Amino acid sequence: MAEDGAYALFCATVDAASAVAGITDQWLLERIKTPERIHQVSIPFTRDDGHRELLTGYRVQHSSARGPYKGGIRYHPNVTLDEVKALAGWMSIKTAVVNIPMGGGKGGITVDPQSLSIRELEAMTRSYTERIWRCIGPLVDIPAPDVNTDSRIMDWLAVEYGRLSGVADPAVVTGKTVEHGGSLGRDKATARGGFDVLEAALHAAGDDLRGKRVAIQGFGNAGANAALLLQEAGAIIVAASDSTAALVSATGLPVADLAAYKDRNAHFCDLTEIERKRADSPLYEEVDILVPAALEGQITAANAERVQARWVVELANGPTTPEADEVLAGRGVHVLPDILVNAGGVVVSYFEWVQDLHSERWLLEEVEARLAVIMKRAFDAVTTLANDRGISLRLAAYAVALQRIADAIREGEVTPRRSISTVIL
Ligand code: NAD
Repeated sequence: MAEDGAYALFCATVDAASAVAGITDQWLLERIKTPERIHQVSIPFTRDDGHRELLTGYRVQHSSARGPYKGGIRYHPNVTLDEVKALAGWMSIKTAVVNIPMGGGKGGITVDPQSLSIRELEAMTRSYTERIWRCIGPLVDIPAPDVNTDSRIMDWLAVEYGRLSGVADPAVVTGKTVEHGGSLGRDKATARGGFDVLEAALHAAGDDLRGKRVAIQGFGNAGANAALLLQEAGAIIVAASDSTAALVSATGLPVADLAAYKDRNAHFCDLTEIERKRADSPLYEEVDILVPAALEGQITAANAERVQARWVVELANGPTTPEADEVLAGRGVHVLPDILVNAGGVVVSYFEWVQDLHSERWLLEEVEARLAVIMKRAFDAVTTLANDRGISLRLAAYAVALQRIADAIREGEVTPRRSISTVIL
Protein backbone atom coordinates (compact mmCIF):
# COMPACT_ATOMS: atom_id res chain seq x y z
CA MET A 1 0.00 0.00 0.00
CA ALA A 2 2.67 2.48 1.08
CA GLU A 3 4.52 1.62 -2.17
CA ASP A 4 1.83 3.35 -4.24
CA GLY A 5 0.49 5.66 -1.54
CA ALA A 6 0.49 9.41 -1.18
CA TYR A 7 3.74 9.46 0.82
CA ALA A 8 5.54 7.54 -1.95
CA LEU A 9 4.23 10.14 -4.41
CA PHE A 10 5.54 12.94 -2.18
CA CYS A 11 8.97 11.25 -2.03
CA ALA A 12 9.04 10.70 -5.80
CA THR A 13 8.34 14.38 -6.48
CA VAL A 14 11.01 15.45 -3.98
CA ASP A 15 13.50 13.06 -5.62
CA ALA A 16 12.70 14.48 -9.06
CA ALA A 17 13.14 18.08 -7.86
CA SER A 18 16.32 17.39 -5.87
CA ALA A 19 18.53 17.45 -8.98
CA VAL A 20 17.15 20.87 -9.96
CA ALA A 21 17.73 22.04 -6.38
CA GLY A 22 21.33 20.81 -6.60
CA ILE A 23 20.98 18.42 -3.67
CA THR A 24 23.37 15.55 -4.29
CA ASP A 25 23.87 14.49 -0.67
CA GLN A 26 21.59 11.44 -0.34
CA TRP A 27 21.65 11.59 3.45
CA LEU A 28 20.41 15.17 3.36
CA LEU A 29 17.71 14.21 0.88
CA GLU A 30 16.53 11.35 3.11
CA ARG A 31 16.48 13.76 6.04
CA ILE A 32 14.34 16.23 4.09
CA LYS A 33 11.82 13.53 3.08
CA THR A 34 11.53 11.61 6.35
CA PRO A 35 9.18 12.89 9.09
CA GLU A 36 11.03 13.99 12.22
CA ARG A 37 8.35 12.56 14.52
CA ILE A 38 5.22 10.47 14.12
CA HIS A 39 2.59 10.33 16.86
CA GLN A 40 -0.15 7.73 16.67
CA VAL A 41 -2.78 8.00 19.40
CA SER A 42 -5.86 6.17 20.60
CA ILE A 43 -8.86 8.41 21.20
CA PRO A 44 -11.44 7.18 23.72
CA PHE A 45 -14.84 8.83 23.62
CA THR A 46 -18.45 8.06 24.34
CA ARG A 47 -21.34 8.31 21.88
CA ASP A 48 -24.58 10.05 22.86
CA ASP A 49 -26.22 6.64 23.34
CA GLY A 50 -23.53 5.63 25.87
CA HIS A 51 -21.63 3.40 23.42
CA ARG A 52 -17.84 3.69 24.02
CA GLU A 53 -15.38 3.88 21.12
CA LEU A 54 -11.63 3.94 20.63
CA LEU A 55 -10.61 5.83 17.49
CA THR A 56 -7.15 6.19 15.94
CA GLY A 57 -5.56 9.59 15.38
CA TYR A 58 -2.22 10.93 14.18
CA ARG A 59 0.03 13.95 14.34
CA VAL A 60 2.98 13.81 11.98
CA GLN A 61 5.71 16.40 12.56
CA HIS A 62 7.51 16.36 9.26
CA SER A 63 10.03 19.19 9.32
CA SER A 64 11.01 21.89 11.81
CA ALA A 65 14.07 22.97 9.83
CA ARG A 66 12.55 26.37 9.02
CA GLY A 67 10.35 26.92 12.10
CA PRO A 68 7.57 25.30 14.15
CA TYR A 69 5.58 22.48 12.55
CA LYS A 70 2.49 23.86 10.82
CA GLY A 71 -0.46 22.04 9.29
CA GLY A 72 -4.09 21.10 9.53
CA ILE A 73 -6.11 18.40 11.22
CA ARG A 74 -8.39 16.26 9.05
CA TYR A 75 -11.42 14.22 10.17
CA HIS A 76 -12.20 11.64 7.49
CA PRO A 77 -12.91 7.89 7.28
CA ASN A 78 -10.02 7.44 4.82
CA VAL A 79 -7.35 9.04 7.03
CA THR A 80 -4.30 6.75 7.19
CA LEU A 81 -0.80 7.24 8.50
CA ASP A 82 0.48 7.15 4.90
CA GLU A 83 -1.83 9.99 3.90
CA VAL A 84 -1.00 12.11 6.96
CA LYS A 85 2.74 11.65 6.32
CA ALA A 86 2.30 12.88 2.74
CA LEU A 87 0.14 15.82 3.77
CA ALA A 88 2.71 16.77 6.43
CA GLY A 89 5.50 16.63 3.85
CA TRP A 90 3.51 18.81 1.44
CA MET A 91 3.10 21.36 4.24
CA SER A 92 6.90 21.52 4.69
CA ILE A 93 7.23 22.22 0.97
CA LYS A 94 4.36 24.73 0.96
CA THR A 95 5.64 26.84 3.86
CA ALA A 96 9.08 26.88 2.21
CA VAL A 97 7.74 27.93 -1.23
CA VAL A 98 6.02 30.97 0.25
CA ASN A 99 9.00 31.50 2.55
CA ILE A 100 7.20 31.83 5.87
CA PRO A 101 9.29 30.80 8.91
CA MET A 102 7.47 27.56 9.61
CA GLY A 103 7.88 23.87 8.95
CA GLY A 104 5.35 21.20 8.09
CA GLY A 105 3.03 18.88 10.00
CA LYS A 106 -0.41 17.35 9.71
CA GLY A 107 -2.88 15.51 11.90
CA GLY A 108 -5.99 13.49 11.49
CA ILE A 109 -8.55 11.15 12.98
CA THR A 110 -9.91 8.17 11.09
CA VAL A 111 -13.61 8.85 11.57
CA ASP A 112 -16.73 9.67 9.57
CA PRO A 113 -17.63 13.12 10.91
CA GLN A 114 -21.11 12.89 9.33
CA SER A 115 -21.89 10.22 11.92
CA LEU A 116 -21.13 12.54 14.86
CA SER A 117 -23.47 14.81 16.76
CA ILE A 118 -22.09 18.23 17.75
CA ARG A 119 -21.56 16.97 21.30
CA GLU A 120 -19.71 13.90 20.01
CA LEU A 121 -17.58 16.08 17.69
CA GLU A 122 -16.55 18.26 20.62
CA ALA A 123 -15.89 15.29 22.93
CA MET A 124 -13.76 13.58 20.28
CA THR A 125 -11.81 16.80 19.59
CA ARG A 126 -11.12 17.29 23.29
CA SER A 127 -10.04 13.66 23.69
CA TYR A 128 -7.67 13.96 20.69
CA THR A 129 -6.26 17.17 22.19
CA GLU A 130 -5.68 15.35 25.48
CA ARG A 131 -3.57 12.80 23.57
CA ILE A 132 -1.47 15.30 21.56
CA TRP A 133 -1.20 18.40 23.77
CA ARG A 134 2.28 17.51 25.02
CA CYS A 135 3.68 17.50 21.47
CA ILE A 136 2.07 20.70 20.17
CA GLY A 137 2.44 24.31 21.39
CA PRO A 138 2.66 27.91 20.14
CA LEU A 139 6.39 27.63 19.43
CA VAL A 140 6.46 23.92 18.61
CA ASP A 141 3.58 22.76 16.43
CA ILE A 142 0.56 24.82 15.44
CA PRO A 143 -2.44 22.89 14.01
CA ALA A 144 -5.15 24.41 11.79
CA PRO A 145 -8.36 23.29 10.07
CA ASP A 146 -8.34 20.89 7.14
CA VAL A 147 -10.99 18.69 5.52
CA ASN A 148 -14.06 18.47 7.83
CA THR A 149 -12.58 20.63 10.58
CA ASP A 150 -13.43 24.29 11.06
CA SER A 151 -12.90 27.36 13.23
CA ARG A 152 -15.23 26.12 15.95
CA ILE A 153 -13.20 22.91 16.29
CA MET A 154 -9.98 24.98 16.45
CA ASP A 155 -11.53 27.04 19.29
CA TRP A 156 -12.23 23.81 21.25
CA LEU A 157 -8.68 22.63 20.65
CA ALA A 158 -7.20 25.94 21.88
CA VAL A 159 -9.34 25.96 25.04
CA GLU A 160 -8.57 22.31 25.81
CA TYR A 161 -4.84 22.90 25.26
CA GLY A 162 -4.97 25.83 27.71
CA ARG A 163 -6.81 23.74 30.31
CA LEU A 164 -4.38 20.80 30.05
CA SER A 165 -1.12 22.77 29.81
CA GLY A 166 -2.08 25.53 32.22
CA VAL A 167 -0.98 28.02 29.56
CA ALA A 168 -3.91 29.62 27.74
CA ASP A 169 -2.46 30.86 24.45
CA PRO A 170 -4.51 31.32 21.26
CA ALA A 171 -1.30 31.01 19.20
CA VAL A 172 -1.39 27.21 19.70
CA VAL A 173 -3.76 26.80 16.73
CA THR A 174 -4.79 28.93 13.76
CA GLY A 175 -8.03 29.12 11.82
CA LYS A 176 -9.94 29.99 15.00
CA THR A 177 -13.04 32.15 15.00
CA VAL A 178 -12.23 35.88 14.95
CA GLU A 179 -13.82 36.21 18.42
CA HIS A 180 -11.27 33.70 19.78
CA GLY A 181 -8.14 35.16 18.18
CA GLY A 182 -8.62 34.22 14.53
CA SER A 183 -7.45 36.54 11.76
CA LEU A 184 -9.64 38.56 9.48
CA GLY A 185 -9.33 37.21 5.95
CA ARG A 186 -8.46 33.64 6.95
CA ASP A 187 -11.71 32.21 5.54
CA LYS A 188 -11.03 33.55 2.04
CA ALA A 189 -7.24 33.30 2.17
CA THR A 190 -6.80 30.17 0.05
CA ALA A 191 -8.96 31.51 -2.76
CA ARG A 192 -7.36 34.96 -2.60
CA GLY A 193 -3.82 33.54 -2.68
CA GLY A 194 -4.74 31.44 -5.73
CA PHE A 195 -6.30 34.47 -7.36
CA ASP A 196 -3.12 36.48 -6.77
CA VAL A 197 -1.01 33.76 -8.43
CA LEU A 198 -3.37 33.43 -11.41
CA GLU A 199 -3.39 37.20 -11.95
CA ALA A 200 0.41 37.28 -11.86
CA ALA A 201 0.65 34.35 -14.30
CA LEU A 202 -1.79 35.95 -16.76
CA HIS A 203 0.00 39.27 -16.46
CA ALA A 204 3.34 37.56 -17.22
CA ALA A 205 1.69 36.11 -20.33
CA GLY A 206 0.49 39.60 -21.37
CA ASP A 207 -3.12 38.75 -20.55
CA ASP A 208 -5.72 39.41 -17.85
CA LEU A 209 -8.93 37.99 -16.41
CA ARG A 210 -11.45 40.16 -18.24
CA GLY A 211 -13.87 38.06 -20.23
CA LYS A 212 -12.13 34.78 -19.39
CA ARG A 213 -14.47 31.79 -19.19
CA VAL A 214 -13.99 29.77 -16.00
CA ALA A 215 -15.14 26.35 -14.76
CA ILE A 216 -14.91 25.47 -11.07
CA GLN A 217 -15.00 21.92 -9.72
CA GLY A 218 -16.00 22.04 -6.04
CA PHE A 219 -18.01 24.97 -4.74
CA GLY A 220 -16.88 24.93 -1.09
CA ASN A 221 -14.65 27.28 0.86
CA ALA A 222 -11.90 27.42 -1.76
CA GLY A 223 -14.01 27.13 -4.93
CA ALA A 224 -16.88 29.48 -4.07
CA ASN A 225 -14.59 32.22 -2.80
CA ALA A 226 -12.42 31.88 -5.91
CA ALA A 227 -15.54 32.19 -8.08
CA LEU A 228 -16.51 35.42 -6.32
CA LEU A 229 -13.04 36.94 -6.74
CA LEU A 230 -12.75 35.89 -10.39
CA GLN A 231 -16.18 37.26 -11.25
CA GLU A 232 -15.33 40.54 -9.51
CA ALA A 233 -12.24 40.78 -11.73
CA GLY A 234 -14.31 40.42 -14.91
CA ALA A 235 -14.18 36.66 -15.55
CA ILE A 236 -17.35 34.73 -16.42
CA ILE A 237 -18.08 31.63 -14.33
CA VAL A 238 -19.77 29.34 -16.83
CA ALA A 239 -19.70 26.08 -14.80
CA ALA A 240 -19.50 25.11 -11.14
CA SER A 241 -20.09 21.84 -9.33
CA ASP A 242 -20.55 20.36 -5.91
CA SER A 243 -20.44 16.62 -5.26
CA THR A 244 -24.04 16.18 -6.47
CA ALA A 245 -24.19 18.07 -9.81
CA ALA A 246 -22.71 20.81 -11.98
CA LEU A 247 -24.51 24.01 -12.93
CA VAL A 248 -23.75 25.56 -16.32
CA SER A 249 -24.62 28.87 -17.97
CA ALA A 250 -22.92 30.23 -21.08
CA THR A 251 -23.68 33.82 -19.99
CA GLY A 252 -22.39 33.33 -16.44
CA LEU A 253 -23.70 31.81 -13.20
CA PRO A 254 -25.12 33.97 -10.37
CA VAL A 255 -22.11 33.28 -8.18
CA ALA A 256 -23.10 35.27 -5.06
CA ASP A 257 -26.55 33.64 -5.01
CA LEU A 258 -24.99 30.19 -5.38
CA ALA A 259 -22.56 30.87 -2.54
CA ALA A 260 -25.48 31.90 -0.30
CA TYR A 261 -27.37 28.76 -1.43
CA LYS A 262 -24.41 26.51 -0.47
CA ASP A 263 -24.12 28.29 2.90
CA ARG A 264 -27.52 26.79 3.67
CA ASN A 265 -26.03 23.28 3.18
CA ALA A 266 -28.12 22.79 0.03
CA HIS A 267 -27.12 20.67 -2.98
CA PHE A 268 -26.74 21.75 -6.62
CA CYS A 269 -28.72 18.68 -7.72
CA ASP A 270 -31.84 20.24 -6.15
CA LEU A 271 -31.51 23.55 -7.99
CA THR A 272 -33.97 23.40 -10.88
CA GLU A 273 -33.70 26.98 -12.25
CA ILE A 274 -30.26 26.46 -13.82
CA GLU A 275 -29.12 23.86 -16.36
CA ARG A 276 -27.57 20.90 -14.55
CA LYS A 277 -24.95 18.39 -15.68
CA ARG A 278 -22.86 15.62 -14.12
CA ALA A 279 -20.65 16.71 -11.20
CA ASP A 280 -17.44 16.08 -13.17
CA SER A 281 -18.51 18.11 -16.23
CA PRO A 282 -16.63 21.35 -15.29
CA LEU A 283 -13.41 19.46 -16.01
CA TYR A 284 -14.36 19.17 -19.68
CA GLU A 285 -16.14 22.47 -20.41
CA GLU A 286 -14.88 24.72 -23.19
CA VAL A 287 -13.28 27.35 -20.95
CA ASP A 288 -10.08 29.35 -20.63
CA ILE A 289 -9.50 28.53 -16.96
CA LEU A 290 -10.29 25.37 -14.99
CA VAL A 291 -10.17 25.54 -11.19
CA PRO A 292 -10.18 22.10 -9.53
CA ALA A 293 -11.24 22.91 -5.96
CA ALA A 294 -12.70 19.61 -4.73
CA LEU A 295 -10.57 16.54 -4.13
CA GLU A 296 -7.28 14.92 -5.10
CA GLY A 297 -6.87 12.72 -8.19
CA GLN A 298 -9.51 14.36 -10.40
CA ILE A 299 -7.45 14.89 -13.57
CA THR A 300 -5.90 11.57 -14.50
CA ALA A 301 -4.32 9.82 -17.48
CA ALA A 302 -7.83 8.62 -18.33
CA ASN A 303 -9.43 12.07 -18.72
CA ALA A 304 -6.60 14.64 -19.17
CA GLU A 305 -7.08 14.63 -22.96
CA ARG A 306 -10.64 15.92 -22.44
CA VAL A 307 -9.58 19.03 -20.50
CA GLN A 308 -10.09 22.01 -22.82
CA ALA A 309 -8.88 24.84 -20.56
CA ARG A 310 -5.55 26.56 -21.29
CA TRP A 311 -4.98 27.23 -17.58
CA VAL A 312 -5.47 24.81 -14.67
CA VAL A 313 -5.42 26.49 -11.26
CA GLU A 314 -4.99 23.79 -8.57
CA LEU A 315 -6.82 25.12 -5.52
CA ALA A 316 -7.42 21.54 -4.34
CA ASN A 317 -4.51 19.51 -3.01
CA GLY A 318 -3.22 16.98 -5.55
CA PRO A 319 -6.03 17.22 -8.16
CA THR A 320 -3.71 16.23 -11.03
CA THR A 321 -1.92 12.87 -11.14
CA PRO A 322 1.72 12.80 -12.39
CA GLU A 323 0.59 10.99 -15.56
CA ALA A 324 -2.05 13.64 -16.25
CA ASP A 325 0.56 16.34 -15.63
CA GLU A 326 2.57 14.95 -18.54
CA VAL A 327 -0.46 14.83 -20.84
CA LEU A 328 -1.39 18.43 -20.00
CA ALA A 329 2.19 19.65 -20.44
CA GLY A 330 2.36 17.91 -23.83
CA ARG A 331 -0.77 19.80 -24.89
CA GLY A 332 0.61 23.16 -23.75
CA VAL A 333 -1.81 23.57 -20.83
CA HIS A 334 -0.41 25.84 -18.09
CA VAL A 335 -0.79 24.13 -14.71
CA LEU A 336 -0.43 26.42 -11.69
CA PRO A 337 0.55 23.88 -9.01
CA ASP A 338 -1.29 23.32 -5.72
CA ILE A 339 1.86 23.70 -3.66
CA LEU A 340 2.01 27.36 -4.71
CA VAL A 341 -1.58 28.18 -5.67
CA ASN A 342 -3.35 27.07 -2.47
CA ALA A 343 -0.68 28.30 -0.03
CA GLY A 344 -2.67 31.46 0.83
CA GLY A 345 -4.42 29.61 3.66
CA VAL A 346 -1.21 28.79 5.48
CA VAL A 347 0.17 32.27 4.86
CA VAL A 348 -2.79 33.89 6.62
CA SER A 349 -2.57 31.18 9.31
CA TYR A 350 0.97 32.44 9.84
CA PHE A 351 -0.39 36.01 10.05
CA GLU A 352 -2.91 34.82 12.66
CA TRP A 353 -0.11 33.24 14.70
CA VAL A 354 1.99 36.42 14.55
CA GLN A 355 -1.00 38.56 15.58
CA ASP A 356 -1.75 36.24 18.52
CA LEU A 357 1.87 36.19 19.70
CA HIS A 358 2.05 39.98 19.57
CA SER A 359 -1.52 40.64 20.78
CA GLU A 360 -2.21 42.57 17.58
CA ARG A 361 -5.26 42.76 15.31
CA TRP A 362 -4.59 43.55 11.68
CA LEU A 363 -7.15 45.16 9.40
CA LEU A 364 -8.52 43.05 6.55
CA GLU A 365 -6.82 45.34 4.00
CA GLU A 366 -3.51 44.80 5.78
CA VAL A 367 -3.91 41.02 5.73
CA GLU A 368 -4.80 41.03 2.03
CA ALA A 369 -1.97 43.38 1.07
CA ARG A 370 0.63 41.31 2.94
CA LEU A 371 -0.73 38.10 1.42
CA ALA A 372 -0.48 39.57 -2.09
CA VAL A 373 3.18 40.52 -1.53
CA ILE A 374 4.08 37.03 -0.29
CA MET A 375 2.23 35.24 -3.10
CA LYS A 376 3.81 37.47 -5.76
CA ARG A 377 7.31 36.91 -4.37
CA ALA A 378 6.73 33.15 -4.35
CA PHE A 379 5.36 33.25 -7.91
CA ASP A 380 8.39 35.24 -9.09
CA ALA A 381 10.88 32.85 -7.47
CA VAL A 382 9.14 29.80 -8.96
CA THR A 383 8.66 31.20 -12.47
CA THR A 384 12.24 32.50 -12.63
CA LEU A 385 13.60 29.03 -11.88
CA ALA A 386 11.08 27.34 -14.21
CA ASN A 387 12.02 29.67 -17.09
CA ASP A 388 15.79 29.43 -16.43
CA ARG A 389 15.73 25.65 -16.40
CA GLY A 390 12.89 24.98 -18.82
CA ILE A 391 10.94 22.93 -16.25
CA SER A 392 7.34 22.84 -15.03
CA LEU A 393 6.15 25.25 -12.35
CA ARG A 394 5.48 22.24 -10.11
CA LEU A 395 9.04 20.97 -10.30
CA ALA A 396 10.36 24.51 -9.87
CA ALA A 397 8.16 25.10 -6.80
CA TYR A 398 9.48 21.92 -5.19
CA ALA A 399 13.07 22.86 -6.08
CA VAL A 400 12.74 26.37 -4.59
CA ALA A 401 11.35 24.82 -1.41
CA LEU A 402 14.00 22.08 -1.22
CA GLN A 403 16.81 24.61 -1.55
CA ARG A 404 15.37 26.62 1.35
CA ILE A 405 14.86 23.55 3.56
CA ALA A 406 18.35 22.24 2.77
CA ASP A 407 19.88 25.64 3.58
CA ALA A 408 17.97 25.75 6.89
CA ILE A 409 19.19 22.27 7.85
CA ARG A 410 22.79 23.19 7.02
CA GLU A 411 22.51 26.53 8.89
CA GLY A 412 20.81 24.81 11.84
CA GLU A 413 23.88 22.64 12.28
CA VAL A 414 26.07 25.65 13.02
CA THR A 415 23.70 28.28 14.43
CA PRO A 416 20.58 27.96 16.58
CA ARG A 417 17.29 27.95 14.70
CA ARG A 418 15.47 31.26 14.27
CA SER A 419 13.39 32.26 17.28
CA ILE A 420 10.11 34.16 17.24
CA SER A 421 11.89 37.44 18.00
CA THR A 422 13.35 37.31 14.48
CA VAL A 423 10.16 36.38 12.68
CA ILE A 424 9.84 38.40 9.48
CA LEU A 425 6.81 40.66 9.81
P1 NAD B 1 -15.06 22.17 1.19
O1 NAD B 1 -15.48 20.95 1.89
O2 NAD B 1 -15.45 23.50 1.73
O3 NAD B 1 -15.56 22.13 -0.35
C1 NAD B 1 -15.36 21.05 -1.19
C2 NAD B 1 -16.38 21.14 -2.32
O4 NAD B 1 -16.09 20.14 -3.28
C3 NAD B 1 -17.82 20.90 -1.85
O5 NAD B 1 -18.67 21.80 -2.54
C4 NAD B 1 -18.11 19.47 -2.32
O6 NAD B 1 -19.48 19.23 -2.56
C5 NAD B 1 -17.30 19.46 -3.60
N1 NAD B 1 -16.98 18.14 -4.11
C6 NAD B 1 -16.57 17.05 -3.42
N2 NAD B 1 -16.40 16.03 -4.27
C7 NAD B 1 -16.70 16.49 -5.49
C8 NAD B 1 -16.70 15.91 -6.78
N3 NAD B 1 -16.36 14.63 -6.96
N4 NAD B 1 -17.07 16.68 -7.84
C9 NAD B 1 -17.42 17.97 -7.66
N5 NAD B 1 -17.42 18.57 -6.47
C10 NAD B 1 -17.07 17.83 -5.39
O7 NAD B 1 -13.46 22.04 1.08
P2 NAD B 1 -12.41 23.21 0.82
O8 NAD B 1 -11.89 23.69 2.11
O9 NAD B 1 -12.95 24.18 -0.17
O10 NAD B 1 -11.24 22.35 0.15
C11 NAD B 1 -11.30 21.94 -1.21
C12 NAD B 1 -9.91 21.52 -1.65
O11 NAD B 1 -9.01 22.61 -1.45
C13 NAD B 1 -9.32 20.35 -0.87
O12 NAD B 1 -8.49 19.61 -1.75
C14 NAD B 1 -8.46 21.02 0.17
O13 NAD B 1 -7.42 20.18 0.64
C15 NAD B 1 -7.93 22.17 -0.65
N6 NAD B 1 -7.44 23.26 0.19
C16 NAD B 1 -8.32 23.99 0.95
C17 NAD B 1 -7.80 25.00 1.75
C18 NAD B 1 -8.72 25.87 2.57
O14 NAD B 1 -8.22 26.79 3.24
N7 NAD B 1 -10.01 25.66 2.54
C19 NAD B 1 -6.41 25.25 1.81
C20 NAD B 1 -5.55 24.49 1.02
C21 NAD B 1 -6.08 23.48 0.21
